[in-house]
Amino acid sequence: MKKITSRTIICFLLAMVLLAGTLLFTFRFFTQGAEWASFPSNRHLYTDGVLSRGRVLDTKGDVLAAYSGGWTYNDDSSIRRATLHAVGDPSGAIGTGALTRFASKLTGYNPVTGADTLLSDGRDLFLTIDAEVCAEAYRALNGHKGTVGVYNYETGEIICMVSSPAYDPANPPEISDDDEEYDGVYINRLLSSRFAPGSTFKLITAAAAIENISDIDQRTFTCTGSTEVGGTTITCVRAHGTVDFEEALNVSCNAAFAQLAVELGSSVMEQYTEETGLTDSYSVNGIRTAPSAFDFEADGDAGLAWSGVGQGKDLVNPCSLMIFSGAVAGGGKAAVPQIIQYTAFTEGVRTSLYIRRSTSQLLEESTADQLKSMMKSNVENNYGRSNFPGLDIGAKSGTAQVDTSDADNAWFTGFLDDEDHPLAFVVLVEGGGSGASAAGRVANTVLQKAVDAGY
Ligand SMILES: [Zn+2]
Repeated sequence: MKKITSRTIICFLLAMVLLAGTLLFTFRFFTQGAEWASFPSNRHLYTDGVLSRGRVLDTKGDVLAAYSGGWTYNDDSSIRRATLHAVGDPSGAIGTGALTRFASKLTGYNPVTGADTLLSDGRDLFLTIDAEVCAEAYRALNGHKGTVGVYNYETGEIICMVSSPAYDPANPPEISDDDEEYDGVYINRLLSSRFAPGSTFKLITAAAAIENISDIDQRTFTCTGSTEVGGTTITCVRAHGTVDFEEALNVSCNAAFAQLAVELGSSVMEQYTEETGLTDSYSVNGIRTAPSAFDFEADGDAGLAWSGVGQGKDLVNPCSLMIFSGAVAGGGKAAVPQIIQYTAFTEGVRTSLYIRRSTSQLLEESTADQLKSMMKSNVENNYGRSNFPGLDIGAKSGTAQVDTSDADNAWFTGFLDDEDHPLAFVVLVEGGGSGASAAGRVANTVLQKAVDAGY
């Protein structure tokens, strides 16, 4: 009798294990089946290792890439280059490309019918980008390496995502490893890279100062053009004289912001790079952005002083800076950027919805409002409103020294304070020189095009 009881228990336990395994398989079949089916050795969906189904379109329905016996691309060569890092390549060299990252959506797999052969054309994948705006951004970079990102900080839709250098996917060049012209060509600089932020980082130092130094708005700073801070000599492009906090941001006074960083201390500075989302890895429809990286402890107060003005060991991901600018405009938080608008049957019936996602509160609302007004006064008092005709814009420029080149990297980030056009942006022109003029000009060109197009 005892024997029978123990055998019953063993049988019961085995049955439970079988049931648990079946449930786990069923769950994973529904949640991950599309990825299994889009595995590159599936000969139903891949020809010679190349995905052989589907179309990628921009938000207006312009076809960026389509499969019919082979992949063909948009007729316009500027658009092909400008959208290279969003569309990707069939071989998967560009890791962020739709042809690689969203292969499961292009195949049209679903758990009930599988990758059905009746709909052998696969699916239409509509991206949020506007191909014409991307092409304008690519042309505005004018052969420089760099990136341009523009997105709607209320909905999260990425309007423009351009990374340079690029190449023509319809006619891919032979690229050798040491080819300077194509250095980093497979990297999507907006999502996957990190660069010294230069003075754009003063926005983060400013946020920390607003929330931690109670008399910050009554403070004045005296800049002689070359100031001892933390045992190092911090230089400015000129002697800024005596400035208050807002004026210090307007003229981008290194001496003032280096002093503030040292006063705030390394742990507060580190806390603000985390709270403001810079060190986050955001998920852009599953594509993880590169987290920004800092080391405020490396070289004592001297290192902290340089870090506070965006040099030192600071490395910032352009996309996270764009989101930060969106949060400044949006009362302290912003939508998380997304690149997929929706998928559809080739006949046009949609098979997915766009669902907005929000960041956490990156800044207190009052801090965001103060920074917003300071970034608008940057334009008013320094960059020149006439350089941005018709745009109600707030911005911060950056000119970052880099070890690898004599020419500085030019940055410009900010937002439109316009409920009809809630856009945030980031521009990086590598070797562009002055942030305000080189990157500011690119920003204006692209924003004018985006606003004209109704975004
Ligand atoms: Zn100064």
